Amino acid sequence: MSDVRPDIDPRPALVLFSGGQDSTTCLAWALSRHARVETVGFDYGQRHRVELTQRRVIREQIAQQFPDWAPRLGPDHLLDLTVLGSISESALTQDRAIALQSNGLPNTFVPGRNLVFLTLAAALGYRRSIRLLVGGMCETDFSGYPDCRDETLQAQQRALALGLAEDVQIQTPLMWRDKAQIWALAQELGGLALVSLVVEHTHTCYLGRRDSRHEWGYGCGSCPACALRAGGWGRWRVGTPGSGSQSLYGA
Ligand code: ZN
Repeated sequence: MSDVRPDIDPRPALVLFSGGQDSTTCLAWALSRHARVETVGFDYGQRHRVELTQRRVIREQIAQQFPDWAPRLGPDHLLDLTVLGSISESALTQDRAIALQSNGLPNTFVPGRNLVFLTLAAALGYRRSIRLLVGGMCETDFSGYPDCRDETLQAQQRALALGLAEDVQIQTPLMWRDKAQIWALAQELGGLALVSLVVEHTHTCYLGRRDSRHEWGYGCGSCPACALRAGGWGRWRVGTPGSGSQSLYGA
């Protein structure tokens, strides 16, 4: 099925899709503007592997709930990157407490993760004739990971374009948005239906917990990822008239 709307970019996009709030918002962003969108995810031995299950659920829910986007949603790709977990010492891949390291970075940092993800996404895109990569990296309201910084991504875009001899572009629609603005972007793109979908089905918690339901979704409520998500939700709710619980979930 082809899209002929003038506001739709005919170029296909490949979204780095983890199943979290940010990458789901990026997926909606890409579906709202590109004629064809594929998704790629990575199994790197993450403790919160429940996100890999949620990826499938989210794609199904988007296809069901957003008929305009459904025909644009192309195949999903899941790449085995368990080697990344075996060479890193991170609280995301090993059973250890989350703490700040002596270099100022939290030990949830998986060295090289985004660099490897983007390189493999570009290689996959090469095979699929997709040159636009979309990622949810953000340096506004983040854990300080250096591979989420705009400067890193600009440099990697250049390296990929040179290394593949193709016009590879990395788009990061969330780079300058804080977590409250990312909730607002979801509402802008897909209304409160998309906000509800993000709340119910995306997974953010580093510990992989989905046994506790909060207003903003499932998670332990106290790990850094939950704290960022909950904090953004709270600020968005305060600043958004009409986003009260009765509008989101019915009376
Ligand atoms: Zn958590």
